[in-house]
Amino acid sequence: MPEPIDWDSVASEVTGYLQNLLRMDTTNPPGNERLAADYIAGVLTNEGLHSNLTESAPGRGNITARLEGGGDGLLLLGHTDVVASEPDKWIHPPFSGRLDNGYVWGRGALDMKNMVAAQLMVFLLIKRQGHTLSRDVIFAATADEEAGKGDHGVGWLLDNHPEQVEAPYVITEGGGNDFEVNGQRFYTCQTGQKGICRFRMTAEGEPGHGSRPHSDNAVVKVADAAAGLGSASLPTHVCETLRAFLNGIGKTQSSHVARKLRDVLDPDLSEEALPELPLSTQMVSGLQALLRNTASVTMLQAGQKINVIPTEATAWVDGRLVPGRTAEMFFEEIRPFTGNQVEFEVDQYSPGLEAGISSPIYATIVDVMGDHDPEAVVVPSISTGGTDAKHICPRRPDTQVYGFMPHRQESGEEEWGLIHGHNERTTVENLVFATRVLHDVVVRFCT
Ligand SMILES: [Zn+2]
Repeated sequence: MPEPIDWDSVASEVTGYLQNLLRMDTTNPPGNERLAADYIAGVLTNEGLHSNLTESAPGRGNITARLEGGGDGLLLLGHTDVVASEPDKWIHPPFSGRLDNGYVWGRGALDMKNMVAAQLMVFLLIKRQGHTLSRDVIFAATADEEAGKGDHGVGWLLDNHPEQVEAPYVITEGGGNDFEVNGQRFYTCQTGQKGICRFRMTAEGEPGHGSRPHSDNAVVKVADAAAGLGSASLPTHVCETLRAFLNGIGKTQSSHVARKLRDVLDPDLSEEALPELPLSTQMVSGLQALLRNTASVTMLQAGQKINVIPTEATAWVDGRLVPGRTAEMFFEEIRPFTGNQVEFEVDQYSPGLEAGISSPIYATIVDVMGDHDPEAVVVPSISTGGTDAKHICPRRPDTQVYGFMPHRQESGEEEWGLIHGHNERTTVENLVFATRVLHDVVVRFCT
């Protein structure tokens, strides 16, 4: 039997890892994740563990380590890059790692150096406890999740060093946060994410002098298409994850609320049912986006001079797809709203993803959460945004990726609104809670 764990000392140890990671400026671009990779390599070496540090490009460090167990492995995956910050808007500087009144401050405290620190801690505890493993436990802290196409992180590892990170099950960021509906508490486990279809709409027209308007103006054509897209109401497509999410909530509610939740899935009743749900406005707007493909016009470009009608104009659109919908289906759907005066050209595409909720790792997560918070219910969730799953699943379609960083809102006010915002911070309490839950998940699944 392994020795009992001294969780007080683990709390200060994992807090220290997080603080040290936060003190490294791994803003992407440019990334410089090598800083974090070197640091983690040092921690692993001190523990007598072998690790692999690779650079996908100068400064773009990826670090992996493995505890052998044979059998289908579990990959604990995190990214060490962070988004940009505006230091003058912060109370404690974004790379301070300051511990103040139970909070650890810094860019990445929630996304996702907190989870990297927790997973590192779990990995070390599994080693220290001397468990006999029935599966490999793999730790990976990788570069380049936050910017652009993310070519320097886990996707690069799968292409260049697959033996380091291939595993049928992955736990990474995404879900794990709690919420309440009529007094019942839930935790999400993110099993799905929408796909990405970022594209350009380009129009061509006749050039001319600004003093002589004509009807073949490229700028007007693109503006018309953008306006059409902006007011489009796209059809609903219900994916399995969203159905399971709403059914999971409905099971705990009165028959009236349960019916409203079901109505959300019915295209004819959805719009009416949504505002009547006992959910936050943020959750309702999330559901609205999850029920359909979405298209946001985010950038425009046309013309060089005020008095010249240009021959070309372009709008960039951030499209997000319900799992199961392809780019072709999406374009067919939006064409009536953009009209035929623009051409579509795809810049970035990755399909929507859904992992199974009948897998053994999902069952383990549900079991372990039952031990830590017996009153709560775990529901699968799907995100409008993407995680590193978009780099894994297109390369390894059989891999099941779950987003699960357990987090209790009650112990940290408004924390989720701070992701990518100013004053990002996490409570030590949540960091330790996550470490304990993830530790138990790994022990139960891998021993
Ligand atoms: Zn992230």
